Amino acid sequence: MGKQKMVYCGSCGKPMKKTDDFGSERDGTLSDKYCELCYQNGSWTEPDIIFDDFYEKSYRGFLNSDRSRIEKFFLKKMYTKKFVRKLERWSK
Ligand SMILES: [Zn+2]
Repeated sequence: MGKQKMVYCGSCGKPMKKTDDFGSERDGTLSDKYCELCYQNGSWTEPDIIFDDFYEKSYRGFLNSDRSRIEKFFLKKMYTKKFVRKLERWSK
């Protein structure tokens, strides 16, 4: 049994663990790249959002989520604009 590979959303960087975390394709199958906050039914939930707004929103979303204080501590350090820029959606 190999270690399960952690998948991160290619739009916001959220780690996706449960089926609920994954977005969906137009045919109803789960996306293997993007989370349900970013991607539903084969399209972006906010197709026209600009990068800076998206970053702010995602960052605040993580801090307001029910993650542990330890997780939030690391998120604050690692969830930078530079990090999000490198994700598939924004790196083009
Ligand atoms: Zn996402």
